[in-house]
Amino acid sequence: MIHGTWLIRLPIVEDELLSSWLARNSFAHGMSAPRFCGLINPGREIWARDLDASISSRSLEMLSLKSEVPLRRLEHSTFRRFSRISKSFLRPISVYHRTRRGHGLQYCPACLGETAAFTRRWRWSFSTDCLRHGCQLYDRCPECLSPAVAHRGLARNIARCNQCGFPLSQANEVPSTQPPTQTQQDLETAMSKIELSSDHCPAAQEYVHAVHILITVLIGSGAIYRAAKILEEAGEIPRPIISFDLAGNRTRRNTFSLVDRLLCGPPCEIASVWTQLGLTQRSFRKTARPGFLSRAIMLLPPGIARKRPRPPLRIYGARMKKLRSSTPFDYVRQRSLVLTCPKPVGPPPNLSRQSSAC
Ligand SMILES: [Zn+2]
Ligand SMILES: [Zn+2]
Repeated sequence: MIHGTWLIRLPIVEDELLSSWLARNSFAHGMSAPRFCGLINPGREIWARDLDASISSRSLEMLSLKSEVPLRRLEHSTFRRFSRISKSFLRPISVYHRTRRGHGLQYCPACLGETAAFTRRWRWSFSTDCLRHGCQLYDRCPECLSPAVAHRGLARNIARCNQCGFPLSQANEVPSTQPPTQTQQDLETAMSKIELSSDHCPAAQEYVHAVHILITVLIGSGAIYRAAKILEEAGEIPRPIISFDLAGNRTRRNTFSLVDRLLCGPPCEIASVWTQLGLTQRSFRKTARPGFLSRAIMLLPPGIARKRPRPPLRIYGARMKKLRSSTPFDYVRQRSLVLTCPKPVGPPPNLSRQSSAC
């Protein structure tokens, strides 16, 4: 265990992620990041989680003590000040033990070459381009397509791919095709307000939540593809989109172009465009409606409820509730399930012929 402060203390670069700073300091001490952190804080496996999103207060205090960096400065390198709602656009990194399977960490090759650090801005899914260098962000190694994992960089260098060792800062810079949309800029402003204000700015949180709901509904209902056809200049949306936050750079940028068009104008005009896309009030029934969207949603047609073809199975009836505490519950439940399930229609399959064919 390291009892005193660190021998080498690399400063945090502006807007750097905690994981990136910690990995750089580990490598400077000639150790892997998990080993270094194991010596600082024994018994706490901080790399087996999304460190930047969910580090505990105790681990953060310990890091502050050992590195002599103020606690508040370290907290600003994480996403701790964002609530669950305002973390809506945080790209998941899919933690698997000490490595990452998701492509949630993006990077600009030119910035990475200059500072050798990963920034917080690159974790947001509304960040698609580097404004300083006018190029698109990468979310994987261009050679082997592995996700960027800062703390496992080969040759103790966070800017090297953890699988093939390719220097990520030498990836070709792909010029941006268009400037950031109004919605992307508004989201950036909202995030900085949430972080800097003492009450976490409820209005900004509501805006972030509302835009995320709209994008989720557009994708879930398939309206996004209809919108891409109707509003042609917004750009093509490749299908299918499984997760917006993990979608490719082009998909996210084109989606924000559409959202720009779908949010401009007074609520009655917004509702008129949404109605053309087939959205109804029922499209938003599974989501909480923030005030920013509710006025437009109330002007939509109510929608038609689907009728179920048959009544739902009532398995946990009065008899089953009574049997809950009894010992042979599993056996009785299985038997009850078999009896409750509807019988198959048509002749039974000819099992003897199938088995002979095998
Ligand atoms: Zn850059
Ligand atoms: Zn690689």
